Amino acid sequence: IMSKEALIKSIREIADFPIPGILFYDVTTLFKDAERLQELSDTMYEMYKDKGITKVVGIESRGFIMGPILATRLNAGFVPIRKPGKLPAETIEESYDKEYGKDTVQIHKDAIDENDIILLHDDLLATGGTMEAACKLVKKLRPKKVYVNFIIELKELNGRSVFGNDVEVESVLSL
Ligand code: IMP
Repeated sequence: IMSKEALIKSIREIADFPIPGILFYDVTTLFKDAERLQELSDTMYEMYKDKGITKVVGIESRGFIMGPILATRLNAGFVPIRKPGKLPAETIEESYDKEYGKDTVQIHKDAIDENDIILLHDDLLATGGTMEAACKLVKKLRPKKVYVNFIIELKELNGRSVFGNDVEVESVLSL
């Protein structure tokens, strides 16, 4: 419906960040532009408005920006997935391998139940390691259904191959 070109143009590319050889897609330049932010919010709302989403789950920390915006538009709740030691109540966790060493994500044990339909959101899909762990974590709490969403998917890395066909994976922009 809306022009994806304008959205793509609003994303800033930074070479060699955070380490040499990495091309970093900086979404803060999209977020700071009122029209683009509205367009992104409208596009994501259209993608999920008829799915019966009860909770949007955002991954720390770039998933904490569009996650709550989308949650309010969908009349859904918002749940954070965080790095270890940040959530105050009882948590469950999932660890995953990164290029150097391991990483862990946590969620509050009582944040999701079997009546929930979940929209799991992060800003960007690269190898898929982060979202795969987040997805496993959410599934431990047995929601009815899990949708996975990104603003940007780096298609050459084929990160979407890590997900089974029980989850629906969609991105606003494929780069
Ligand atoms: P993956 O686990 O390899 O799919 O990496 C995705 C995670 O790294 C997400 O949490 C992203 O926020 C972050 N990330 C990786 N590359 C970029 C980028 O170019 N821009 C913004 N975030 C990135």
